[in-house]
Amino acid sequence: MDLQHWLREAARSHEEWAAGFGPYEPHPALAVDDTAFAEAFGEFTERLKDNYPFFHPRYAGQMLKPPHPAAVVGYTAAMLINPNNHALDGGPATAAMEREVVGRLAAMFGYGTHLGHLTTSGTIANLEALFVARELHPGRGVAYSAEAHYTHGRMCGVLGVQGHAVPVDARGRMDLTALEELLRTGRIGTVVLTAGTTGLGAVDPVHEALELRERYGVRLHVDAAYGGFFTLLAGADGAEGLPAAPWRAIAGCDSVVVDPHKHGLQPYGCGAVLFADPEVGRFYLHDSPYTYFTSAELHLGEISLECSRPGAAAAALWLTFELLPPTPDGLGRVLGAGRRAALRWASLIESSAVLELYQPPELDIVGYFPVTEPAALSAVDTASERILRQGMTEDDPVYVSTLRASAAAFTARHPKVAADADGARVLRSVLMKPESEHRVAELHARLERLAAPH
Ligand SMILES: *Cc1c(COP(=O)(O)O)cnc(C)c1O
Repeated sequence: MDLQHWLREAARSHEEWAAGFGPYEPHPALAVDDTAFAEAFGEFTERLKDNYPFFHPRYAGQMLKPPHPAAVVGYTAAMLINPNNHALDGGPATAAMEREVVGRLAAMFGYGTHLGHLTTSGTIANLEALFVARELHPGRGVAYSAEAHYTHGRMCGVLGVQGHAVPVDARGRMDLTALEELLRTGRIGTVVLTAGTTGLGAVDPVHEALELRERYGVRLHVDAAYGGFFTLLAGADGAEGLPAAPWRAIAGCDSVVVDPHKHGLQPYGCGAVLFADPEVGRFYLHDSPYTYFTSAELHLGEISLECSRPGAAAAALWLTFELLPPTPDGLGRVLGAGRRAALRWASLIESSAVLELYQPPELDIVGYFPVTEPAALSAVDTASERILRQGMTEDDPVYVSTLRASAAAFTARHPKVAADADGARVLRSVLMKPESEHRVAELHARLERLAAPH
C-alpha cells in the first residue's frame, strides 16, 4: 500500500466529513504561517534523524519496529477527530472498534467469555490484572518468576501487596517445584506466568501450572505482553510451529495481557488486558458525574483504571486486523518469519567458532555471546560491549542489544565459562521484523567479523 496516498485520503475523508457540519471561521489565535512552519519542521525532521533504523533488517537489537502502514493511516485518520475511548460519548465509532478488536484478541486466546479493554501499555494492563487479583485475594501475595518483567515487582509495591520472585530453570522458565513450595505456605493469591520473557522469550509452563490453580486456590495471570501473538504459531506445521500446550492453556487462566504495540504492528500506546470472568468489572465501578450518558452497557471507561485513552489506538488496531487479522494465516505469517529467522540464526551460531548460542530461542529472540580467550565472564562482558558499540559505529553498521546474565544463570547454561565476575552481558537480537528472515546470513557474517579475535 502507498502510504503517502492513503495519508492524503485520511486527510481528505476527514475534511469531507467535517464539511458536512457547515462552514466555520478558524480562530486567528491558532493560525500558523507556512514559512514559520517550514522552518520549524525542517529543524524537527533533522532532530528526528537522531534515531536508530528500527525499520531496517540491519537493526537486530531491541523490541522496536515501526507500525504497519495500515496502522499509521488508521491512527492518523482517527486522530484527526481525536476520540477519547474513556467513554462512549467520547467517540462511539472507536469505542465499537475497541470492543471488536478486544473480541478478536479474546478469540485468539480461546477465551469463551471475556471482559477487556485496550490500555496505553503492557505495564498498565498488568497493573489492572494485579489490581483485580488483589481485590479478589486481599492480604495474599503475588508470585512471578525471577525472569518476569520488572514491572510486576514494582506494581506489587504500588498496590501494597507482597511480591515473590520464584526461581527459574536453566532456560529461564519458572521452576514449578519452587512455585509449589511457595504456594504451600498459603501466602500467595495470584501467580503471574510469563508467556515470552522480555529478555529471551522464555515461555513459562502455563499448562503445568493450571492444576496448581485448583489445588491452591490461586488466580493465574498470564503476562503475554511480548509473546501473546505467538499463540498463532501454537501447534503450527513447519519449523516455526511452537509446542501447543502452554499457549492453549492460556484459555484456562484468569487473565492475560498482550501488547499490540509489540507484535501487533501498532504504534506505542496499545496494550490490552483480558479477564475470563466478566464479573470482575464490579471492581472498577465508580460514579463519574461527567460522562456515561449514552448507554446502559458497561462503558469502556467503567472497566479501565485509565481515564482518557486514544480512540485512535483502537482505530489503528481495527484497521490493521481487517487486513492482517490475529489468525495463523494473517498475523501468524508475520510472526512465523521472525521465528524462522531466529531458528536459522541459532543454527548458524551453533556451528560458529567465534560465537556461541546463549540458549536455544523459544520465540524470535536470539541470545548469544562471543567466544573469548580466556573463557570467563569478564572477558565475555567486555567483548559483548565492544561488539555492540563497534557494530553501530563502523561502516555497514549492525545494531544488536545486550542482556545482562547473572553468573548463576550463565554458568547453568555454560559451565565451562569461568565465573570470575557476578555476571556478564551477552548479545541479544530480537528478530521481530519478518524481513529479518532473508537477512540472517548477512547478520551472522557481520557478527562473526565483529567477534573474530583482533
Ligand atoms: C514489554 C513488557 C511489559 C511492559 O509493557 P510496556 O508496554 O512496555 O509497558 C511487561 N511484560 C512483558 C513480558 C513485556 O515484554
